[in-house]
Amino acid sequence: MSGFNFDVITLFPKAFKLINNLGVITRALEKNLIDVNLHDLREYGEGFYRQVDDKPYGGGAGMVLKPEPIYKAYESIKKSPKSKTLLMTPQGKVLKQKDLARWSTLDQIIIICGQYEGFDERIRCLADEEISIGDYVLSGGEIPAISIINGLTRLLPGTLGDPDSLINESHNSLLLEYPQYTRPPVFRNMKVPDVLTSGNHKEIKIWREDQMLKRTFQRRKDLIRREFYDLTINEYDVDDWLWDL
Ligand code: SAH
Repeated sequence: MSGFNFDVITLFPKAFKLINNLGVITRALEKNLIDVNLHDLREYGEGFYRQVDDKPYGGGAGMVLKPEPIYKAYESIKKSPKSKTLLMTPQGKVLKQKDLARWSTLDQIIIICGQYEGFDERIRCLADEEISIGDYVLSGGEIPAISIINGLTRLLPGTLGDPDSLINESHNSLLLEYPQYTRPPVFRNMKVPDVLTSGNHKEIKIWREDQMLKRTFQRRKDLIRREFYDLTINEYDVDDWLWDL
């Protein structure tokens, strides 16, 4: 074992090839900062056909993952001292940046991916947390699992080229990030704001903070919390728009 371990129980291990081709994560794998161990659910299936699913009791459409193969796969995984088990489900708590930050201090995350119509209710007992990546339904837990592996890995020390890039980023504070520009200074009549090319770092900082507030207010008012508003009111020269809160 080396670094942070992700252990994933899935019927589609091949889907995880994607994580080897995602820049920052590729580097983390190469540097042994993370290990992704895939546990193919099919190998724990029952009988000649290695059956992993069955019809739901009580009737209804589709197939449901059986408990035995998932329990067997789960019990085959070596647990680290700081380990958590996450179950991917659209019925779970919606993933937030602060969850990724919280889990980044562990040394192992076990992820159980559902498929088909979902899983036998008794599988829920294995999970420390049930996680959804948003209010929509995907066909399986693989993309949610990859999202968690990706988002968590970039928080691990040594993964990002420049760790400072985590500081102002959207969802890291309560606010969305300010607008970013790079060269050229004018592109198809769209000009980079003068303040950014002024070289005046104090002005740039003020402009960025102001933009973070404005942007969050315009796009994600739900993120602006009362306490935050009370806190900032003294520090910023807030425009009238903030008073609508
Ligand atoms: N019938 C189920 C949904 C099954 S979707 C229900 O209504 O709850 C099949 C599997 O895809 C789920 O078991 C889960 O593992 C995964 N999945 C689908 N959407 C998801 C989401 N938004 N977040 C996390 N996992 C999801």
